[in-house]
Amino acid sequence: MTGFHYDKDADGIVTVTMDMDGPVNSMSAEFLPLLETTIDRLEAEDGLTGVVLTSAKKTFFAGGDLNMLCQVTEDKADEFFQGVEATKAAMRRLEKLAVPVAAAINGAALGGGLELSLACNHRVAWSDKSVQLGFPEVTLGLLPGGGGVVKAIYLMGLMASNEYLLEGKRVVPAKAQQAGLIDATVDSLDELLPAAKAWVTAHKDDEAAMTQPWDTKGYKIPGGNANSPGVAQMLPAAAAMLQQKTRGLLPAPAKILDIAVAAMRVDFETAMRIESRGLTYLALTPQAKNMINTFFFQMNQINGGASRPKDVPPQKTQKVGVLGAGMMGQGIAYVSAMAGIEVILKDISQEAADKGKAYSEKLLAKRVERGRMTEEKAKAVLDLIVPTAANEDLQGCDLIIEAVFENIKLKHQITGELEGYLAEGGIWGSNTSTLPITQLAEASRDANNFIGVHFFSPVDKMPLVEIIMGEKTGDLALAKAFDYALQIRKTPIVVNDSLGFFTSRTFGTFIDEGVRLLSEGMHPVRIDNLGKAVGMPVGPLAVYDEVSLELSRKAQETWEEMGIDTSGRDAAVARDVVNTMIGEHGRGGRHHGGGFYEYAEDGSKAIWPPLLDIYYKPDLDISDQDAKDRMLFRQVIEALRCLEEGVLRTVADGNIGSIMGIGAPVWTGGLIQFVNTYGLERFINRCDELAGHYGERFKAPNCVSEKCAAGELFT
Ligand code: NAD
Repeated sequence: MTGFHYDKDADGIVTVTMDMDGPVNSMSAEFLPLLETTIDRLEAEDGLTGVVLTSAKKTFFAGGDLNMLCQVTEDKADEFFQGVEATKAAMRRLEKLAVPVAAAINGAALGGGLELSLACNHRVAWSDKSVQLGFPEVTLGLLPGGGGVVKAIYLMGLMASNEYLLEGKRVVPAKAQQAGLIDATVDSLDELLPAAKAWVTAHKDDEAAMTQPWDTKGYKIPGGNANSPGVAQMLPAAAAMLQQKTRGLLPAPAKILDIAVAAMRVDFETAMRIESRGLTYLALTPQAKNMINTFFFQMNQINGGASRPKDVPPQKTQKVGVLGAGMMGQGIAYVSAMAGIEVILKDISQEAADKGKAYSEKLLAKRVERGRMTEEKAKAVLDLIVPTAANEDLQGCDLIIEAVFENIKLKHQITGELEGYLAEGGIWGSNTSTLPITQLAEASRDANNFIGVHFFSPVDKMPLVEIIMGEKTGDLALAKAFDYALQIRKTPIVVNDSLGFFTSRTFGTFIDEGVRLLSEGMHPVRIDNLGKAVGMPVGPLAVYDEVSLELSRKAQETWEEMGIDTSGRDAAVARDVVNTMIGEHGRGGRHHGGGFYEYAEDGSKAIWPPLLDIYYKPDLDISDQDAKDRMLFRQVIEALRCLEEGVLRTVADGNIGSIMGIGAPVWTGGLIQFVNTYGLERFINRCDELAGHYGERFKAPNCVSEKCAAGELFT
């Protein structure tokens, strides 16, 4: 039977074991009645000496019901607010019972789970790395509205609670104990309940122990309240720093800070009510709906293997060959070895291969230095990488990833030469960023086993892998590449072959639009600032310098040589700018002696002065809103085209890929999700406006009007 199990022992201690319907305990519709009934019973219980709250599931308690949260609309806001208040009232009754209440935290307690444990007088957790504690709500555009914000302030103070509340930091029990979020840990699960009961027994007559800090007279918030000089001085700066970080695009962090400050100014009960209002406000924002949709539901869909062929059993990569120990190859070797995979790192000379391995040595040494890895473990990881110049060492690899120079002849040649070393059933992956997979696969004896495995730089930091299906790529190759990506702890998206695949093709439109604004006469600093104002991490001109104008010129030349039709890209303006910058002024980008910017030795940069003489027109009349929309809408339109053309196979891949691969603004929930909350009809109208002013490239793809007519969203 599921529900809350209720067991009273001979000492009068009741253990409440949460075991709700479904895989986890959560704040679903079932939760509040269960909690209230249990508390009714506890309040009426004769001879009660204490309570222990624990869980029968692997996790302690999973938090809010996100399905329910997504459905909150204006007309249901009051009902939602009342629901939050009722849940808080029940938790308040729990912490005010006349006996000590302990939480025995046997698994992850995130968000609502941590809040529930904060409604106990004492928290003891199993010290295991699966037991994660924290408030991840901010990462979904929400806040911990079950007392989390207010209680975190009471327990840790403003400064220390910052990273938990504003960044969603998750920690293991030992760290949570240091921070003051929990009180004790035990080494084994067997010790957990006895430890909780022992605390209850020891404190059954201890009035102070069963009074929460926020109910304790004279209790002082660590670091002081809002009027203490240290905090009062810090507040204006904190608000400004937050604004700088979120650029005003994310309402949740600002709301959390607001409530945190209120918690230090008003009484506890009022602060709790302000917090409930804050959660209600955030639940209604498009940002929260976008972030929940993409970072929770679609992320789970992807990591759960929705884009992977179902009938191919799980594939494990044991030995990977990495060809080319350059910038990308060395990173691929590192992340593979970190996942326990044997790596053959091959370059044209032993020296070049050794240099590639040295990169891992450096990263591992840093980990050891920071106490994040033992020396033995670091050595074991490093030992997995075999640098070599000998082809034979590749014998038996179940996956070979080629990351040599971006040159089709070279890539064709090594495919022919080295494919034979693959193990039976092994596959060949190319990390090309611009060459079509279908054409690369022409050199393969078995195009069925040839696939694109596109990493992003720097490989050890970037969380995405874009898997590209060539025309002939088969299911086994897809399953192997997909499972390998998960094995190295990356998120895989799967796309069909297209020039620039999904990520580079879409990102290219952001750069292209920035360059168009430049050639129309907008000040380059304004362009980059507006690019950032829309939520992109870097402005289009600065990022073009990084990826290099030279690289895009080369790609263009290669495509022309290969006879690939690039007319769909409408890149004439960008080509002119690149020709002027490189051809006339030798400005190929940051690593080619400078581009739109010039770079000083100390890492600082400033606009290359002649750029203004060439392009800047002070009289240009384009509003900030138009410029921002141009840079965002181009990307959204391109993502929609990818969907329409079947380059994207799912909406989830488009959303996750755009955020993790090209830094699309987090508040949009991904470039396709953006349209859902912007409103399909409104989107079409705005596209028409932009097209009227700036050109046909802004016309909304047909799939939007089709969805609109069907009354559907992009899901
Ligand atoms: P790189 O120039 O840093 O490294 C290429 C390496 O390949 C060099 O060490 C070179 O010695 C080696 N090499 C050349 N011929 C070889 C051969 N026959 N056998 C073995 N090794 C050989 O280049 P990179 O930036 O690492 O890019 C490699 C590939 O990854 C390219 O296809 C590129 O398009 C792609 N890519 C690059 C990025 C990026 O940001 N740099 C991102 C995604 C994909």
